[in-house]
Amino acid sequence: MNIILIGPPGTGKGTQAERLSKKLNIPHISTGEMFRQLATEGNALGVEARDKYWGKGNLVPDNITIKLVEERLAKADCKNGYILDGFPRTIPQAKALDQITTIDEVIEIQSSNDVIIKRLTSRRQCINCKKIYGIDVPPTYEGICDKCNGKLIQRDDDKEEVIKERLEVYQKQTKPLTSYYTKQGKLTEVNGEQPIPHILEDIIKTVSK
Ligand SMILES: [Zn+2]
Repeated sequence: MNIILIGPPGTGKGTQAERLSKKLNIPHISTGEMFRQLATEGNALGVEARDKYWGKGNLVPDNITIKLVEERLAKADCKNGYILDGFPRTIPQAKALDQITTIDEVIEIQSSNDVIIKRLTSRRQCINCKKIYGIDVPPTYEGICDKCNGKLIQRDDDKEEVIKERLEVYQKQTKPLTSYYTKQGKLTEVNGEQPIPHILEDIIKTVSK
């Protein structure tokens, strides 16, 4: 079962991919982790991508990313399937992916912008131990870390303006993928505004049908 998870930031996509990976016993492949893994292993292209691009904070070009995805999917642990998270992000990437593999299911975790903005702007991080709190995991005392009594602050990434910008980029670049995969008969939408265990149940129903 070759699966793609897509969805805007703030829908807990990574968490769902992680849990689904354990449930189905197939690897969860997020682009960032894949980049790090291949570079650490000494993969030539992986090292090049690190030294020239992501290691310097630059975007890895599509032609290199797709080759790295191809090398990652060729590994033995992917023989029964995999879950892609964070790739493809654009139509050109989706078309390139279709050249190297066959996708079985595309799951879109949906959520309204209002819910996402509320969830992400409520996040707070401990300045000492970096633990993250939010609507789902509030601290016992407001503004104070449960673990170390550190002060909780809002990260720049969780400021409303930054979130709105990321949501716009998602709408413009990634949302078109939903029609692309609908045309292929592969897309299922899942309600991402439910509690996390319910979202996972819906995803599992989709992949077991
Ligand atoms: Zn702390």
